Amino acid sequence: MYDIIIVGAGPAGLTAALYARRNGKRVLLLEKEGFGGQIALAPLVENYPGIPSIRGEALAEQMAAQVMDLDTEVEFGTAVSVETRGDVKLVATEEGEVYQGRAVILALGARHRALGLPGEAELLGRGLSCCAVCDGAFYADQDVAVVGGGDSALQEALLLAGICRRVYVIHRREQFRGDRTKQQALREKENVEILTPMEVQGFETREGELSALQLRDRTDGQTRRLEVRALFVSVGREPALSGFANVLHLSRSGYALAGENGESGDGIFVAGDCREKTVRQLATAVGDGAAAALAACRYLEKAT
Ligand SMILES: Cc1cc2nc3c(=O)[nH]c(=O)nc-3n(C[C@H](O)[C@H](O)[C@H](O)COP(=O)(O)OP(=O)(O)OC[C@H]3O[C@@H](n4cnc5c(N)ncnc54)[C@H](O)[C@@H]3O)c2cc1C
Repeated sequence: MYDIIIVGAGPAGLTAALYARRNGKRVLLLEKEGFGGQIALAPLVENYPGIPSIRGEALAEQMAAQVMDLDTEVEFGTAVSVETRGDVKLVATEEGEVYQGRAVILALGARHRALGLPGEAELLGRGLSCCAVCDGAFYADQDVAVVGGGDSALQEALLLAGICRRVYVIHRREQFRGDRTKQQALREKENVEILTPMEVQGFETREGELSALQLRDRTDGQTRRLEVRALFVSVGREPALSGFANVLHLSRSGYALAGENGESGDGIFVAGDCREKTVRQLATAVGDGAAAALAACRYLEKAT
């Protein structure tokens, strides 16, 4: 029986584990992939106070090492449900394990949103990618495109501009939402072409691999064919909380509704990008993790 089961070892979950262990709680950290969550994919992190510049992967490793030094128990598996039985919460995984805890912190982050086009799912890994850090090198010296207008899309495009021959950045609005410095840096790259306001309408394939995109200009409705070897989709993220709706309060967009202390149900806390909030960043994920862990500790103390 654990005091606190933390699901998700991204920045929010790792911070929650750090605080809960330092409070002497028996903690299980359950993660489905690897330590660090999304930040491990960031080429460079330059907005985390006290660390002027660091590779996301290195920061994730440091965060995880700090938590492991506190003898935190870790299991790898995908949580699929949480149930309350009296004072006990049961966390079940896709792999068939059931863990018991007295409080649960869900720090599941958010997953990539799809474009919703026919054939999209089949093309994942066959020219369609959601991660330039992971897949950019496969398309070295080739022509690729990025679709999206936020910070992540701009960051992906900047990274690809250093690897690929030509990078097209497609956004459905005239203006990007992302950071102005990144926009400027992108406009200064000779191998980057910005296509706005344009949307991707469909895919062409050759031997099962992406070979071209069908685009539509949103100003005049004209269509255009763009030959690329890869499309990096960066059109936002959505939480994966629907399986936990029985123990959480969810907003209409599917994020968990919780106050500053992260409590979203009895003994159920949320932290990080899966929480309904306006800023989804490393600094806010870390803050959420700390607040949720301390609130869970108070919950346990009240219950005894
Ligand atoms: C490419 C990129 C670059 C970024 N750069 C920056 C930056 O420079 N500065 C900045 O402030 N922010 C940046 N961000 C945003 C930042 O990474 C996120 O806001 C932050 O990681 C959110 O932390 P989190 O712990 O809430 O969620 P995540 O980082 O998403 O972590 C969630 C974790 O939960 C795990 N998980 C999910 N579902 C389950 C399940 N069912 N069972 C078990 N485990 C599960 C996931 O595998 C993951 O490890 C970037 C994001 C990306 C994608």
